[in-house]
Parts: sequence; C-alpha cells; structure tokens
Amino acid sequence: MRRARCGNPSERSQRGAARALTSPAVPYVYAFDHKHRRPPMDMKDLLGGKGANLAEMTSVLGLPVPPGFTITTDACRAYMYGGWPDSLDEEIAKHVFRLEKKMGRKLGDPFDPLLVSVRSGAKFSMPGMMDTVLNLGLNDLSVKGIAHVTDDERFAYDSYRRFIAMYGRIVLGVDGAAFEEPFEKAKHNAGVSSDAELPASALRALCEEYKVVVRAATGKPFPQKPRDQLRGAVEAVFRSWNGARAIAYRVRERINHDLGTAVNVQAMVFGNRDDNSGTGVGFTRNAATGENKPYGDFLVNAQGEDVVAGIRNTDDLDHMKLHFPVIHQDLMDIFRRLETHYRDMCDTEFTIEQGKLYMLQTRVGKRTGAAALRMAVDMTKDKHIRLTRTEAVMRVAAEHLDQVLHPQFAAKNLKVIAKGLAASPGAAVGKVYFTADDAADAADRGEKVVLVRNETSPEDVHGMMVSEGILTARGGLVSHAAVVARGWGTPAVVGADSVKIDGKQFTANGVTVKEGDVISLDGTTGEVVLGAVTLSAAEPPAEFNIVLAWADQIRKGHLAVRANADNGPDSINARQFGAEGIGLCRTEHMFLGDDRLPVVRRMILADTPAAEEAALEELRKVQKADFIEILEAMDGLPVTVRLLDPPLHEFLPRVEELEIKKATTGLTPAEVKLLAAAESWAEFNPMLGTRGVRLGVVKPGLYAMQVRALMEAAAERVANGGKPIVEIMIPLTVTREELALARSWVEGAIAEATKGMKKKPKVSIGTMIETPRAAIRADEIAEEADFFSFGTNDLTQMTFGFSRDDVESRMMPAYLEQGLLKRNPFETIDQSGVGELVRMGAARGRHTKPDLKLGVCGEHGGDPESIGLFYDAGLDYVSCSPFRVPIARLAAAQAVIGAGHADTK
Ligand code: ADP
Ligand code: MG
Ligand code: MG
Repeated sequence: MRRARCGNPSERSQRGAARALTSPAVPYVYAFDHKHRRPPMDMKDLLGGKGANLAEMTSVLGLPVPPGFTITTDACRAYMYGGWPDSLDEEIAKHVFRLEKKMGRKLGDPFDPLLVSVRSGAKFSMPGMMDTVLNLGLNDLSVKGIAHVTDDERFAYDSYRRFIAMYGRIVLGVDGAAFEEPFEKAKHNAGVSSDAELPASALRALCEEYKVVVRAATGKPFPQKPRDQLRGAVEAVFRSWNGARAIAYRVRERINHDLGTAVNVQAMVFGNRDDNSGTGVGFTRNAATGENKPYGDFLVNAQGEDVVAGIRNTDDLDHMKLHFPVIHQDLMDIFRRLETHYRDMCDTEFTIEQGKLYMLQTRVGKRTGAAALRMAVDMTKDKHIRLTRTEAVMRVAAEHLDQVLHPQFAAKNLKVIAKGLAASPGAAVGKVYFTADDAADAADRGEKVVLVRNETSPEDVHGMMVSEGILTARGGLVSHAAVVARGWGTPAVVGADSVKIDGKQFTANGVTVKEGDVISLDGTTGEVVLGAVTLSAAEPPAEFNIVLAWADQIRKGHLAVRANADNGPDSINARQFGAEGIGLCRTEHMFLGDDRLPVVRRMILADTPAAEEAALEELRKVQKADFIEILEAMDGLPVTVRLLDPPLHEFLPRVEELEIKKATTGLTPAEVKLLAAAESWAEFNPMLGTRGVRLGVVKPGLYAMQVRALMEAAAERVANGGKPIVEIMIPLTVTREELALARSWVEGAIAEATKGMKKKPKVSIGTMIETPRAAIRADEIAEEADFFSFGTNDLTQMTFGFSRDDVESRMMPAYLEQGLLKRNPFETIDQSGVGELVRMGAARGRHTKPDLKLGVCGEHGGDPESIGLFYDAGLDYVSCSPFRVPIARLAAAQAVIGAGHADTK
C-alpha cells in the first residue's frame, strides 16, 4: 500500500533506465572484504551504516570480523519500486558460494553446516526495522551436523528451536505466543524452571512442535532449504522498511522515506558454546558521562540479544577481564584502533567463541549531551585524535545542548520510592501508563505521561516518543529503553528492579502506584519519586561554555544571534544565554497584563478624541517603564521593537461569551459597550485582516504613542549613561507606500520626542517581511527601510495558505506520514518555497540598499537546519527564544563552517 509513494511512474522508469545502463558495473551485493575503490564508510548510502562499518573493520582495519556480505539499499529500492530484482538471486548465490568456500562449510550441510545471521541495516540506525535472525541455515539435517561437530546435541537443538521460533515470528509473522506456550509446557513436563536445564530430548521434541505451529499458522511447512530461508529473510528486511513503526520513526527523525535499507548476511559465531565463550557490547568511552574509560556489558555463555534484552544481569568489562584477561587486552587494543581510525567514540558488539574474539558491529556511538561536550573538548587534546576546534564544534548537536539545558529536581532529600540506573539525563514529571498505546492515547488527550514497563522493545517506540520520561524495571545502560531515550534526550531510569509491575499498577518498596498517578523521575540520578517534584533549571557542564566560546569565534562577523523577549527579566536571561541583542520585542505582550488590558479596552472604546488620548497617555507610561528595563538589560546591543501587530479584537472579550451573558444574567452598561466594540471589530479572517501596519493606518495615534514611549525610555537611558540602540519595526508591510506612510509617523514622533535633546539615541526604522508580496517587492520596500526582519511564521502561513493553529494538529501528521511534506514547515523552514522567498527578499532588498541589515525573528530562527538557510541567504542575524540562544549560537557556527557536508537524511 505504501509502495506507491516511492516514486511516480516517470521517476521509476528513469531509475530503471539508469539501472539498465549501469547494471553490470553496479552490483547489488558487496562482500565485507570487497576491494572498494572508495573507503566503505563513504558508501553508507549504499551499504547502510552497519554494512559500511563491517566492511570498514574488515577491509580497512583488518579486525577479526566473521565474513559476510551486504545487499545494498539499491536492491531494496529496486524491490520497493518493482518487486524482487531479476539479477539478485544470482548475485546472492554467487556470494553465498564464496562465503562457503571461505568458511570451508556449506549452508544446510548435514555434516558440518555453515550458519549465518541476517541483519537489517539502513543508513541511519532505526527502530522498526526487521530484527536480526540468527542461526539461519539450520534444518532437520544440518541440526544433526551441528550436533556432530560440536559434539553437543543439546546445543544443536537449542539453536534449532530458537531459530524456528525467531524465523517464524520475525519473517513469517507467526504470533510469538504460539511458541511460548509449548515452551512453558516443555519446562513444566521436564520439571525444570529455566531453559538452560531442558535436556536435548525435550528440545528436539520442541523443534517438532514448533514446526507444527508454523504449518498451522502459515499453511506451509517450515522452510527446509537454506536458500529459501535466506530469500525469505532478505525479503522480510526489505518489507520492514515500510512497516508502520519504521515510517513513524522516520517522520519523527526527519529521515527520507526513499533511502531504503541494506541487508547483511554474516557467518555465525557462537558466544553460547560454553563457558569459554560469551558476548558483549562495549563503548570506547563512557557514553553517559564522556569519561575516557571504556564501558561495557558482558555475559558469559550467551548469544546475541541476551545482553541488551536485560534477561540476565550483565557484568562490566572489568569483570570480564578477570575471566578473559588476554581477550580483554585485545579488545582494549581494538578500541584504541577504532577511536584512532574513526577519531570518535565508538560503540561495539563483540562475541567470544571458545576463546577467540570476533567483532560483530561498530559505529560512532550515541552519547548524552554532557558526554558529547566532554568528549569534544577532550579529543582536541588527545594525541591520537587531534580534533580541531572546528571539528569539536561540529561534533556537538543541538539535541546535546538541549539535554544539558534540561531541568533537574529542585529539592533534595525527596522520598525516593525506587532507584534504578541513570540512563538518560534530565528530570520528568507525568502520569504513569503501562503500555505504549495507553501512553500515546493519554498524550493525545494532552496529558504529560511517564511510560513504565518491565523493558521496552521497538514495539513501544510510539509510546516512548510521547513520554516525558521512561521508567523500566529491567535492563542495563545499553538496553533498548536507555539507548532510545538518550538518543531523544528523554529522561529515563532503567533497571529499577524494586519496581514490580502488575497489570495497571506497580509497587515499589511498599508504595503502590496506579495508572494515572503522577510520578517524577530523575534520569541523572536514577531516582523515582511519588508525586510531582518541582524542577529547577539545569546546570550545564564546564565544557558547555568552552564549546560555545569556540562556536562564537567561528561565527563572529558572520551570523549574530539575538533573542525574542518582551520584558526585562527575559532580556536579562537572554543576555546570560549569550544573546547579542533583541530581534523581536512584541509590544502587544505588554498590553495583556491584568493592569493594562482595561486601559487598552478604554482606548478601543473611546468615543471622543480626548478619551482616546487619555487612554493612550496611560498606556504610554507603562510601556515606557517596560522599555527602560529592556534597554537596560540589553545596553549597548540592538533592540528591535515591533509596533502593535495583532488585530484589536484580541484585546476584547469574545462576542459569544458576552452574548451568553446577555441571554442569562444580563450585561452591565460597560459590557454593552464592550459587546458593541467586539462586534464591530470582529473579522472573518483576523490573521489576514486589520492588523499590523493596517491597524496603524486606522488608528494612527497608537503607533505615535508607542514610538514616544520608546524614545522617552531611550532618552532616559542616555541620560543615565546608557547606550540604547533602538530599531523600530513596522509589522506586516506589503507596499513601499504603506511603509513610507508609517515611517513618516515614526519619524514625526521621534522628532517630537527628541526635540532639544543634545545626545540623541540611535534609532533606525525597518519592517517585517512576512507576506509573499513583501518578499517579491523587497526592492521597493527597501527604499523606505533601514532593515528587514523576516517573519517566517506568517510568511509560511501565507505562502502555503496553511493556518498554523488549524493544520498543525489535524492535517500535518497525515501529510508527514504520507510523505506529502518532508518536514513540518512551521518547525523547519520550507527550503524551496518559503526559503526561496527569504532568499529573494534578501537579494532584492540588498540590490536596492547594499547595507540593508537583515534578520529573521520567526520560530525558525532557533531551528538548526533553518539557520543554515538563513546564513546562505546572507542574513546578519537570527533571533529566537532565550532558551534556544545557545543552540542557535552553535548552529550558526556550524552553518558558517558549512554544515552542508552533514549526511543527508
Ligand atoms: P541490532 O541492530 O538490533 O543490534 P544486530 O544485527 O546487531 O541487530 O544483531 C542482534 C544481535 O545478534 C547482536 O547482539 C549481534 O551481535 C548478534 N549477531 C548478529 N550477527 C551475528 C553473527 N554472525 N554471529 C553471532 N552473533 C551475531
Ligand atoms: Mg534489532
Ligand atoms: Mg547490533
């Protein structure tokens, strides 16, 4: 059903044609040890992340990696557009043959069979992709071969029953419970409690039962031919690309739906052979704190997912060293080489088979914000890595800063009901839900939720996504819950083993918490508290300011960062975050206070010029006081003040409310007047109605009053030795004539206010560019403007014809899921539409006035991807909310460095 999206017919035939021309030269399958012309890591688009890294470890680093091959994302795309590609069977067969030769074993061999794993691997690691299938190649005959060569019948049938269940569930779509039941029964019959105690005979019988389960569920026997097993698994990986969970994840992470996934087929190694075997995951540094000390989890005599699944409690690497001192040393050497090669922290999966170490996976590892900052700074001093400051700045992402700016518990000595591992920093408060679906429903209702589960799996991602915090009873720091939460900066506590979940409630140390009860958790300390704890602002680590200072050096003179702030405290805060001025001071916010609103209403209701003037005079006084505070906080830095923008009815009560009151209790004389005013100012489409400069045209006294208040405030600052820099901004201009008129009022008011003043404050006059017409006629408008500020919120609304408040909740999710839009254009600027208008407006404005100052004050000013576009368009500054200023400083530096070479999603 989803396939149709992946290309219109003409696109499809073009790709088809390209493929036909190049097909002999561009294979669908690459062996890990293929002699690549380019380093494998440059072929991530084709090989996927996992495949590229496996090839890199094999062919570049010469590390001990079990041999195998990668089926490319090209093959997946071909499959999505036109079904299983013709040449693919043959190519796979050729590579299987090579692999068999290399291993000296054959798939399905009844004496000494080769077994493989089939592993999905897209360019970006993604939940929702098919789970790995291990032990592929086992069948009724080859299981005997395994029993023979390992001289361990129990091991052979244990592997076979795992394989049938895994393949049945993952590839054939059989309900996992259908395998659980016979398994529990077998344990019961044998009188044992753990799977390790089941004898070979019971496991052999279980294999027979499992095959019956598969036949009953699918109507076909369990595939016995390894070639069929392989093809089935590969196809299932391809199909999983368009599974619902994968699509949801791509929407959230803004990953292109057309990338496709690669498939890796790899010879099996067995960490579960005996006590001289084992499996583990390891990080070359601590991914939570950034400390330069390898960190990992290890299990003796275990296979694959056992470590991450949180089934048994794991040991750390120091513990592994006791049992495997030589291998531990080998592993540490490999870690060093990986770091030197990738010049970054890597995470790895490894397996020991009978005393021999194999590397099964590596990649540049995910990390917390604090760790990212610490590693970036540390690695500039590391003699193996020698990171430059520019590189260090590129290593830190917006999400990382976001994380260290996360709140923490304000109070100490709280009554902690449970403690688990501190898996992802930051504190969260929310209502408890026990399933991903319930969490998602509650979030839809607008509740803040904390998801509580024994452990999470990719099935839970949609619930994790909407949660303020995540709590699990089982699992370690590399469990699914921990890894996903860290990636998103969602606070998480995992492995809180005192938490006992029972249906829709849990108990922990004697306290019972039911669904819907509020808990608080701190992912920095691992503490869980009953009720809502007050949160305090976060305290970023020392490296935070170091990295931002480097970022500031890089962007200095290229792209400034200002804040949007409307009052003194916000302005002080913004300056502390590093804002270099105010890009947008919304004067209407000053009108909404309890003490101000009645005055504004009096102004609107005034019947006589004298009454109107009296109200304006009162407003002028309070506005002046506000401006003084703001100018003081931003002394020496530019402050852009926007004159009143919203439609006047926003300051009046709603017509319906008054109508209801009129019909029930009746109206006071004042309310009768208010109703008349509300009715007369009501508009069909207020956002496109009498607002912005249009308001100034119908109520000229208003703008003059605002300018007077501002100039008096500036004058007072000058008198007190301050250095105010004032920029007066006219909203919603669409023509030169309109701006010329508004400019004349403003200049008149300035002249009046500064009459006789010796040291006059610095003032410039400019306009918002927030309608398509203004962007297109920016050349004319620039004649009357000293500066432009792109109001990209309105510009996006008007360019798309999307009313933000109406489309964002109802329509946008459907558009994103179906790929009709790649991004929510209100979050990240629409590069080719709205972005084009920004580029045009900037270029045309500067054509008229080369020194025209340009900025942006829409929400996009704090969005890293959009900042790249603003820099390219030649803007002088971006402006965003105070809290996002550090992120904008970093993103601005990255834009200057040329984030263009970041990986395309
Ligand atoms: P994921 O992306 O979920 O980590 P992987 O493909 O890495 O999926 O595999 C899941 C588990 O199976 C990992 O622990 C991995 O190390 C293990 N595994 C994968 N391939 C093999 C193999 N050829 N031999 C032994 N273990 C394997
Ligand atoms: Mg997986
Ligand atoms: Mg893995």
